Amino acid sequence: MSKVDILRDPGPRIRELWKGFAGTEEIGSFVDGEIVFGAGDLLDLTDPATGKVFAQFKDADASVIDAAMDAASKAQREWMKLTASARGRVMNEIGRKIRERAGEIAEIESRSAGRPIRDIRGEVVKVAEMFEYYAGWCDKLHGEVIPVPTSHLNYTRQEPIGVVVQITPWNAPLFTGGWQIAPAICAGNAVVIKPSELTPLSTLILGVLCEAAGAPRGLVNVIGGQGVTAGQAAVAHKRTGLVVFVGSAHAGSLIAATAAKNVVPCILELGGKSANIVFADADINHAILGAQAAIFGGAGQSCVAGSRLLVHRSIHKEFVERYAAAAQKIPVGDPYADTTQIGPINNLRQWTKITEMVKQGVAEGAALATGGGRPEVLDATGGFYFAPTILDNVSPSASLSKEEVFGPVVGVTPFDSEEEAVTLANDNPYGLAGAVWTQNVGRAHRIAGQVRAGTFWINSYKTISVMSPFGGFGQSGYGRSSGRDALMAYTQTKSVWVETAAEPAVAFGYVG
Ligand code: NAD
Repeated sequence: MSKVDILRDPGPRIRELWKGFAGTEEIGSFVDGEIVFGAGDLLDLTDPATGKVFAQFKDADASVIDAAMDAASKAQREWMKLTASARGRVMNEIGRKIRERAGEIAEIESRSAGRPIRDIRGEVVKVAEMFEYYAGWCDKLHGEVIPVPTSHLNYTRQEPIGVVVQITPWNAPLFTGGWQIAPAICAGNAVVIKPSELTPLSTLILGVLCEAAGAPRGLVNVIGGQGVTAGQAAVAHKRTGLVVFVGSAHAGSLIAATAAKNVVPCILELGGKSANIVFADADINHAILGAQAAIFGGAGQSCVAGSRLLVHRSIHKEFVERYAAAAQKIPVGDPYADTTQIGPINNLRQWTKITEMVKQGVAEGAALATGGGRPEVLDATGGFYFAPTILDNVSPSASLSKEEVFGPVVGVTPFDSEEEAVTLANDNPYGLAGAVWTQNVGRAHRIAGQVRAGTFWINSYKTISVMSPFGGFGQSGYGRSSGRDALMAYTQTKSVWVETAAEPAVAFGYVG
């Protein structure tokens, strides 16, 4: 890194882009097809690349939540009046509209959320694909006929739940928004989604585009508001039929507790502390690249980040030296520059947490191999930058092995045997993801079967697809929110019994 030029104000450009979608410069919530404001306080939106406030928006108050829930309930009934094929056509049109404005969407997400533009350009296309994938499911989602041992015809129906409340975090707001909205509406539900108060813009735009594509007004409502107020109010609302939460384990348990009071089910997509295991027989060049993508992609602000790197002792020293040298070459800087691979941390609170966890890691005995704070060359920007950081010889009992950092910080721990690698990988309450690097096919599959995680990669890291189920084990949550599995979670099964006998026997007890 040499010259850095981020001393800019992205505010005017972000507001111009926003106006191009919303028709107004004011930022609020998107309810029943309109941008609305309610009587909430003004909340700041901060540019992670400069630390400066670029806009403000109105926090949703209770009246906004009520209006969104009413609109969603009405729109859901309208949505289900369409044929399944017609719903699929609307979903394909949403995908088309996203593709049509992909450049603007990527720019607003990059500038407002601090995500590297080179990542986001690809993510916008992925979000279009999410709607297109589920468009194809609309007319293929059906029940089955069960050959019951009586004279009845028994069949099942996959019915929508009604109004789904979704709450999402700041690390990948656009991607997570599409990931949740698409299966929900495919299954016939309406959505009230509350993105993080730190990054509401791209989700608001998704709501606007859903309506522009022909979805009934109010099918997708987006709440600009805080978690403890607006989020909790939506979860507790009497019209809520399902809650889907993506975020921290702490908030997830509070949300599940609120939902449980009304006997409302939840899907929880929570944090992780995923183990990335490298054996001595791995393709080392490939494994080093994979270990970089695992933790430094998205500046480590990724739920599946490979934050625990377990390396066989026989290659540990050389691996860490090469890994640290490679990490120092990753371009860190302005998220809107084409060359940037690591942008800023999204917010100051998270940057401070990362800084403190690294200090604590060193105090607990880890050796700093590279990184450890904001790159000096970026100091003048005021942005929340954090250099890719490798801490070596991290003890399995250290806080860095136990707690999620959610930043570009990896702890390396050597191991001596396959058994020890699996034990270390599973020595954590989370269970979101994991990976192994080896050329031994049998070992790869043995380990895939033994590591407790909802997603596991062999000689790869961080590949996910809307077609494949995604979710956590243990404290990483429950329920699945992609692939065919999500459609089961977003519907409820009804069993219908039809008597076919000419002279049916009437029984007082259970028959069957
Ligand atoms: P967070 O839990 O603080 O906030 C997430 C969302 O929940 C935000 O919209 C916030 O406003 C809302 N919220 C917070 N407290 C709430 C409460 N008491 N009631 C209702 N809503 C509340 O998480 P974050 O800091 O925004 O995101 C980081 C976390 O998200 C990390 O733990 C990360 O691993 C996790 N995450 C998980 C996945 C996944 O798919 N498993 C994906 C991305 C991020």
